[in-house]
Amino acid sequence: MLKGKVALVTGSTSGIGLGIAHALAREGATVVLNGLGKADEIEATRAQLAADTGAEIGFIGADLSRADAVAELIAKIEAEHGRLDILVNNAGVQHVSPIEDFPPEKWDLIIALNLGAAFHAIRLAVPGMKQRGWGRIINVASAHALVASPFKSAYVASKHGVLGLTKTVALELAEHGVTANAICPGYVMTPLVQKQIPDTAKARGISEEEVVRDVLLASQATKRFVEVDELGALAAFLCTDGAASITGTALPVDGGWTAH
Ligand code: NAD
Repeated sequence: MLKGKVALVTGSTSGIGLGIAHALAREGATVVLNGLGKADEIEATRAQLAADTGAEIGFIGADLSRADAVAELIAKIEAEHGRLDILVNNAGVQHVSPIEDFPPEKWDLIIALNLGAAFHAIRLAVPGMKQRGWGRIINVASAHALVASPFKSAYVASKHGVLGLTKTVALELAEHGVTANAICPGYVMTPLVQKQIPDTAKARGISEEEVVRDVLLASQATKRFVEVDELGALAAFLCTDGAASITGTALPVDGGWTAH
């Protein structure tokens, strides 16, 4: 279904990004992985994905908190593959802290990566998409693009920003065959969530078990974590022609969290 299309999934060396990369590769897209990590582990992930799906899978490492690195990444893909049809802005980090102790450098990093990298990748990918009259921009936002939680000021601000960016870009590209949507996951058990459990326990003065039960899954009506495959399935659907009129939306995949 996506044969001949070239996709970039940022932050796809683990977690949700890797799940989305799997789903797009299964549909036949050429997928460029990106993210941080150990070179040998990343190569093993890349090779496994290629073997599992039969798709062409590449990897380009780049620290996307830097605007120049985003520009190099997009330029490399267009030089190597001649096109970039599907852009999944997924790379993101979290930091949990009361606002008065929130380290300004963490604020800068989170805004630069979670929001700034999406802006830079979109602005650079759009000319080619417009020229070809087809494109899919999928921003992995969060339920935190729609609602807030305490102690996550930078993350919630960045994700609300991503949703605003998504809506704006969708309007600008609506007549060019390019859609832009924000997938808004609830909690998914990935390294990003595992890492925040101890800090959340500290910030709230509760145990780590209580964080999982009373904080993370408290609002998730399904009482289970969202699975990466569920997010991959939605991303793949958004790339079909059947989803051509879905644009400028926030699509919660949150087990009922934002229905409260
Ligand atoms: P993860 O930690 O498993 O993956 C994050 C990915 O981003 C990794 O591939 C990592 O190498 C990459 N990355 C980190 N810093 C980077 C940088 N400076 N440059 C390039 N790549 C970088 O996390 P995840 O949970 O899979 O998160 C993926 C996205 O989903 C994030 O945007 C996150 O905010 C969002 N999200 C996650 C959840 C959740 O519960 N896990 C919920 C809602 C939204």
